[in-house]
Amino acid sequence: MIETLGRTRVEHFIAGAAAESHSQRSGPVYDPATGEVTKHVAFGTRSDVNAAVEAASAAFPSWAEKPPLQRAAVLFRFRELVVRERERLARIITAEHGKTLSDAAGELQRGLEVVEFACGIAQLLKGEFTQNVGTQVDSHSVRQPLGVCAGISPFNFPAMVPMWMFPIAIACGNAFVMKPSEKDPSLCMELAALFHAAGLPAGVFNVVNGDKTVVDGLLEHDEVAAISFVGSTPVARYVYHKATQAEKRVQALGGAKNHLVVMPDADLDQAADALMGAAYGSAGERCMAISIAVTVGAQTAEALIQRLTAKISTLRIGPGIDQNVDMGPLITPEHRDKVRDYIDIAQSEGARVVVDGRQQFEGDTRGFFLGATLLDGVEQTMRVYTEEIFGPVLGIVRAPDFETALSIVNGHEYGNGSAIFTRDGEAARTFAARVQTGMVGINIPIPVPVAAHSFGGWKRSLFGDYAMHGAEGVRFYTRLKTVTSRWPGSLRKAADYGMPTMT
Ligand code: NAD
Repeated sequence: MIETLGRTRVEHFIAGAAAESHSQRSGPVYDPATGEVTKHVAFGTRSDVNAAVEAASAAFPSWAEKPPLQRAAVLFRFRELVVRERERLARIITAEHGKTLSDAAGELQRGLEVVEFACGIAQLLKGEFTQNVGTQVDSHSVRQPLGVCAGISPFNFPAMVPMWMFPIAIACGNAFVMKPSEKDPSLCMELAALFHAAGLPAGVFNVVNGDKTVVDGLLEHDEVAAISFVGSTPVARYVYHKATQAEKRVQALGGAKNHLVVMPDADLDQAADALMGAAYGSAGERCMAISIAVTVGAQTAEALIQRLTAKISTLRIGPGIDQNVDMGPLITPEHRDKVRDYIDIAQSEGARVVVDGRQQFEGDTRGFFLGATLLDGVEQTMRVYTEEIFGPVLGIVRAPDFETALSIVNGHEYGNGSAIFTRDGEAARTFAARVQTGMVGINIPIPVPVAAHSFGGWKRSLFGDYAMHGAEGVRFYTRLKTVTSRWPGSLRKAADYGMPTMT
C-alpha cells in the first residue's frame, strides 16, 4: 500500500513484493459504517496483468517440481501466520466490508479450513497404480498442475472466497494470480504478504487489483490455463463463455436465491431463529443467505411471521466493529439504494411489507445502513422473487403443501442452496433427493460445505463442471496423466499393426 494524497492507495502484489500500478485509474474503498472513503484501490492495466502472469509463469516450473510435502510445509507456516494475525485481519475485513467482527473472524476461519485441507496435499495427489494391466505391462496415473491459474472474487467474502481458490491451486503446484473485489481489496494483499513471509517463492502468488480491465486481461492471456470466478450470475456467465472460448478450464460461481421450506411440524422457534441469522446476518450479503421462506400451510405462515416480527424488533444494527451488533451496513451507497428500491418494487407489485427496513435509517447520512425488511405474500412472478436482492430482505411465499413448496424451490433459475425445517424424516429425505440445488440443509439454514467437501450450486448458480475446494478443487487445479509402461527385455514383441490390446 502506498500513501497518496493523504489516503492509502492499495496497489498490487507481484513477484513477491508490493508493486505500483501502471494505471492512473482507481476506485474508492469505503468504510461502510461511516460512509467515508478510507482508501483508493488501483485499477490495474493490461501491463499489470502481464507482469503478474509473467512472474507466475517464471515461478511455476520450480514450484511444480517441489515435492508436495515441501509445498505443504509452506502452507502449514502460512496457516500459523494467519492464525496469529486473525484479529487484525478480521478488523480489516470489517473496516472495508462492514460485516460484524465475529462474522469476519468466521469467514477467515472457513478460509483457514481450506488451507488446512490443502496441507494434506501429499495424500490428495496420490495417483493410481495397476500392476499387469497387460502381460508385464503396468499403468499408473498422476495428477499434474496446470500452470498459471487465476481467481476473481466478489466483495462479500474478501477472505473466504479467495481462500477457496489459491491455497488448493498452489498446493497442487500451480502459480496463481488473484483479482480481488475492488470494493474490499486489502485482505488479499495481506494474505499475499503473509504467504510470502511463510516462505512461498516469489511469483507463485500474485495479486492484481482492479476492475473489468484486469478480468479481461486474465481471460484473454494465453498463459493463463484456468479461471476460478465467484460473483454475480451475469458476470459469471460472461467469464464462463469468454474463458471457455479461449480454451481455458473454468469454474464460475454465480448468484443465488436460496429458499428455506418451513413444514407445519417444524420447531418454529428454531426455524425463526435460523431465518433471522440466515436472512439478516451479514446484512443478507451472502451467496448462501436465505432470501425466501416457503411456508407450508396458512398457520405456519402466521406463526412464523409473528415470531420473525418480534425478533426483528430486537435486531441490533450498527457498525460491525461494535461487539454488540448483529448486523452491519451494506457495502456501498449504490447497493444500499438498490436494495431499498426492491422494497418499493415489492410494494408496488402487491407484496405486503410486514416490517419496513426503509424507515429505520431514513435521513441518516452516516454509513450505508438499512433496516431489516420482512415481506409477506410474495409471488413467483414478482421481481422481488425472481431477482437476487443481496440485502436484508426476507420474503414469505405461502404454499399449501409440500409438493407445491418443492416445485416452487425447483422453479427458480438459481440453484445454489436450499433448506427444509421439519421433524418428518420422510419429507426431509424426499426434499434432499428431489431438490434442484447444489447444497441442501436439513434443519440447517446455511449448509455451506466444510473444506473437505465441495462448494457449488446448480443451474445458473454455477457455470462449469467443478465446484470449489474439497476433491473437486483438487481435480479442477490438476490434470490427469496416465502412464503405461513395459521394460525392454521383459517381453519382446514383433511389429503389430492392429489396435493395441494388453494381452
Ligand atoms: P460482481 O459480479 O459484481 O463482481 C465479482 C467480480 O467480478 C469482482 O472481482 C468484479 O471486479 C468483477 N466484475 C464485475 N463486473 C465485471 C464485468 N462486467 N466484467 C468483468 N468482471 C467484472 O459480484 P459482487 O457484487 O462483488 O458480489 C456479489 C455477487 O456474488 C452476488 O450475486 C452473490 O450471490 C455472488 N456470490 C456467489 C457466491 C457463490 O458461491 N455462488 C459466493 C459469493 C458471492
